[in-house]
Amino acid sequence: MINDLVRKNIRNLRPYSSARDEFKGEASVFLDANENAFGSPVSFSDESLNRYPDPLQAALKQHLSHIKGIPPQNIFVGNGSDEAIDLLVRIFCEPGTDNLITCPPTYGMYEVSANINDVQVLEVPLLPSFALDVEQILEKQNERTKLLFLCSPNNPTGNSLHPHDMELLVQKFNGIVVIDEAYINYAKQPSAISLLTEYENVVVLQTFSKAWGLAGLRVGMAFANEIIIGLLNKVKPPYNISKANQQLAISALQNINWVNTHIRATVHQRNLLMQKLAEIPAVQKIHPSDANFILVEVKDADSIYNTLKSKGIIMRNRSKIKGCENCLRITVGTPDENALLIKEMTQL
Ligand SMILES: *Cc1c(COP(=O)(O)O)cnc(C)c1O
Repeated sequence: MINDLVRKNIRNLRPYSSARDEFKGEASVFLDANENAFGSPVSFSDESLNRYPDPLQAALKQHLSHIKGIPPQNIFVGNGSDEAIDLLVRIFCEPGTDNLITCPPTYGMYEVSANINDVQVLEVPLLPSFALDVEQILEKQNERTKLLFLCSPNNPTGNSLHPHDMELLVQKFNGIVVIDEAYINYAKQPSAISLLTEYENVVVLQTFSKAWGLAGLRVGMAFANEIIIGLLNKVKPPYNISKANQQLAISALQNINWVNTHIRATVHQRNLLMQKLAEIPAVQKIHPSDANFILVEVKDADSIYNTLKSKGIIMRNRSKIKGCENCLRITVGTPDENALLIKEMTQL
């Protein structure tokens, strides 16, 4: 009965499967969700919570504005960047009519949000080098294409997209180009935020979930021109960021030294891990990474995944994804965790 009342696309929806969906058990080393292995710069401090929070997070945006060099009116704060992704689809795509473009292999939430909203997904796969197929993207767009989702550095491949390709798409694409920069803090390449000064059809997404060490907090950001920020604010639930979260996000921004220290540590560990992985016979290919994880092609991904799982080391098995055949995605852990990983992989 209830099922009959549900929208057909929601009924048929295959929900996003998170790392914690795919592995629920006990383990000593979790390297499967790209969290910050070093912890977080703040823990919870209590303040009276009887009053509603600032719906537009003015204080938090002031701090963000200072650090990012963007005016507060060009900043949206969401319940994770996942909220911004969903809002963008709901704002721009007419259900059952419009479409958006993704470039797989990439982050799964773009497609899930599209499916939830009954929006068609047009896929233009990345080239074998994991670079954008600019020509195909422009070829594929039609009069019903509203959004293009780019992810740089890309999850799960780890590479940054070429700035020139992204700018070209921003110039030539007929809709909004969303550039997801969840891993930008680990990248050599600067943020695409600078495109905002020149183009009105760009949205840059960033998050507190990765380098900022606050995946448990659920705070993400979108940077865009004032019209798009206005639309996001119009559609979002009024009090989407709790008072505690606003306060903790501000505390984190005041503790930027912690974050920068651990970005350097993570990049250092990533490079060490790549060197060590290269010496392991089962490893076929190590993809370049600008993120806090490494995509590694191995001889038999399922068997290695299971062997390491039995040792209490969990990574993300991405081998069923087109373009990532036989690949495991390994989050950079602490020095001890990485050493344990290498020890176990050496014994394969
Ligand atoms: C982890 C991740 C996010 C973060 O989402 P939040 O909702 O902010 O935690 C966004 N995009 C990509 C590509 C990611 O890998």
